[in-house]
Amino acid sequence: MDDARRHSESQDANSRALPKIAVLGGGPAGLGAAWKLAKHSKAQVELFEAGERLGGNAGSFDADGVRCDFGSHRLHPASDPEILADIKSLLGDDLLLRPRHGRIRLKGSWIHFPLKPVDLATRMPPLVSASLFFDAATAKMRAPRVEVETFGSVMLSGLGRSMCDWFYFPYMKKLWGLDPDELAPTLAKRRVSGSSLPKLIRKIFASLPGLKSPETGKFYYPRNGFGAICDKIGEAAANAGATLSLNSRVEGIEISDGRIKAIKTRSGESVATHQVDAVWSTLPLTVLARAAGEGAPEHVRRAAASIRYRGMILVYIVLDTDQYTEFDAHYFPELSIPISRLSEPKNYSAATQPDGRTILCAELPSDPGDQYWAMSDEALGEALYRWLGECGLPQSAKVTRAFTRRLPFAYPVYDRDYEAHFDTLDKWVSGIDGLLTFGRQGLFAHDNTHHALAMAYGAVDCLEPGGFNLKKWADYRREFLTHVVED
Ligand SMILES: Cc1cc2nc3c(=O)[nH]c(=O)nc-3n(C[C@H](O)[C@H](O)[C@H](O)COP(=O)(O)OP(=O)(O)OC[C@H]3O[C@@H](n4cnc5c(N)ncnc54)[C@H](O)[C@@H]3O)c2cc1C
Repeated sequence: MDDARRHSESQDANSRALPKIAVLGGGPAGLGAAWKLAKHSKAQVELFEAGERLGGNAGSFDADGVRCDFGSHRLHPASDPEILADIKSLLGDDLLLRPRHGRIRLKGSWIHFPLKPVDLATRMPPLVSASLFFDAATAKMRAPRVEVETFGSVMLSGLGRSMCDWFYFPYMKKLWGLDPDELAPTLAKRRVSGSSLPKLIRKIFASLPGLKSPETGKFYYPRNGFGAICDKIGEAAANAGATLSLNSRVEGIEISDGRIKAIKTRSGESVATHQVDAVWSTLPLTVLARAAGEGAPEHVRRAAASIRYRGMILVYIVLDTDQYTEFDAHYFPELSIPISRLSEPKNYSAATQPDGRTILCAELPSDPGDQYWAMSDEALGEALYRWLGECGLPQSAKVTRAFTRRLPFAYPVYDRDYEAHFDTLDKWVSGIDGLLTFGRQGLFAHDNTHHALAMAYGAVDCLEPGGFNLKKWADYRREFLTHVVED
């Protein structure tokens, strides 16, 4: 028997012994898991992604010669060192370390974002800064007593009335479409890294010379768009032996005797059934429960119908100028302008090409069926340019085209009832042998890309020769609860 045949037979024997795992979703969480499972020869892996490209919400695409992301995306230096080292080794010199150069609009003034002490002191009207600091310093004493904690009450007792009314409350209302008292207190802990005065002061003063680390005020960004991280992880996964199937929407999961048996996928007109030993899903929990059909009990289906994701329209306008402004992002907490953030993709990687053209991307929180979702791309583009003008931003360039990308699953909504619904869904998943969920959509987590990857790495670490180590996974799950989003 020649060497090549012996090698391939032993490979076949190996892969026969390995469990067959279907990874659902090709965003950072699914890709990270597929890569590490294949790399460490822990499973035969096939990843199924509904879309025509990898990366999920953290992907990129080309438009009019400009590489665009799905809203402002940065890789935060706070990433876990193992994850950062992997990304650096996959991207090499194409991973840039760039200074953050954003602005936030507060009470009609533009100030640097992330906040800097000097800027706060010199750019804000003195009365405004004084009342921000006075209110924050006395917030705990003056906070109203409440019977039930909400996002609003936690923020008020942490940062005081002025900071809440001028910044956090309108911003959160815009992002989630709910009042601060309709949102769960957990949101303040997971979504707001400066949710109390000491935390905020630590963040602001960390930017002072002498106190700051070499990475403070900086972010990592791939030369060819944020999605290059996922593209490279996808390449590494395929090289390690994982199969990545695009345009494969998962429409069904088969559960029998409390075990996962198979999944059903659709690619265009063709439908296929895949027998599997395990399913690792990064799909929205609501989609997963729907795919299970009658396999999910009535109370689980009810919970899935009650938990909600917030959608977002990304409105892109193409302008006939090299650069719109020098800033990478503008943040708009005020309710008078419906968008939450504006980014200029060329500025993220300091791209100079193409000549005479740039693109702006606005993040417009919105849900399918609401007034903005129903508007045409052209109407949204026109409205966007008008809103920018109303904030005093330049209007001299000509808009040559507008287009949108509509994300139905942008943010998990932490309303006051979400925890009970999530627990029902989570218990259901945990009770099915071979089914695991993780990632932003799978664990209903407000996370960054490095957090989604950390979940994937954790899951792979739990797959041991004797089976999936549930005790270790429970420890990881507790650790994931400490993740706080960086903006
Ligand atoms: C506007 C915005 C800005 C952000 N900014 C940052 C940032 O600056 N830095 C940062 O680190 N993170 C940022 N994030 C978060 C980042 O995008 C997420 O952490 C990351 O995308 C989560 O990865 P995931 O794989 O868990 O989920 P997703 O990226 O949502 O991937 C899920 C995948 O599942 C697929 N899928 C869904 N249904 C099916 C189905 N039925 N069958 C098959 N496939 C399916 C989807 O197509 C998708 O590809 C931002 C997110 C948003 C929305």
